[in-house]
Amino acid sequence: MGKVSIALRGWRFDETEVFDEEGHVRPLEEVTEETRQRLIRLRVVAGEPCDACYLLNEAKADCDVARIVYGEPLSEVLLCPDHEADFLYWYREAGGSDHTGEEHFADVFHEWFAAGNRAPDGYGGLLHVDTEPDRIPAPEMGEDVPELEAAIADLDDEALDDLGMDYSELT
Ligand SMILES: [Zn+2]
Repeated sequence: MGKVSIALRGWRFDETEVFDEEGHVRPLEEVTEETRQRLIRLRVVAGEPCDACYLLNEAKADCDVARIVYGEPLSEVLLCPDHEADFLYWYREAGGSDHTGEEHFADVFHEWFAAGNRAPDGYGGLLHVDTEPDRIPAPEMGEDVPELEAAIADLDDEALDDLGMDYSELT
């Protein structure tokens, strides 16, 4: 059973839970609550800037688009490849993992980063060994995942509001 990333690397989904045999996104009523929340949240954060870049630049336009997501929906950390090492270092070596699952998970990382903390040179390259490279099926890497949007459009407004989704975008 394969694990896949959708739109952003980091959150991994059970391929058979999210996609049907033809590779189409299943109706979101059919997936678990946790998966549903992540999928909806992905739609919100896809195309947003890297958190670390955003802390360093006033303007979103000067930031790299995030390609990686860690943490839980609503307290997730968005990263570009350049800043992933800083996050991993914080998480593994600087106490970040103590905050796993907490509401302020992202805030703690932001404070650490904003205080000038960084991973040592070469950190990410040495330790980030991806033993199971992500395979990304039907909805391709990128800002638009039309099938996911269609699946989300079928959900009720309340679930979307809870996750910061602007439903009007879809109507
Ligand atoms: Zn960045």
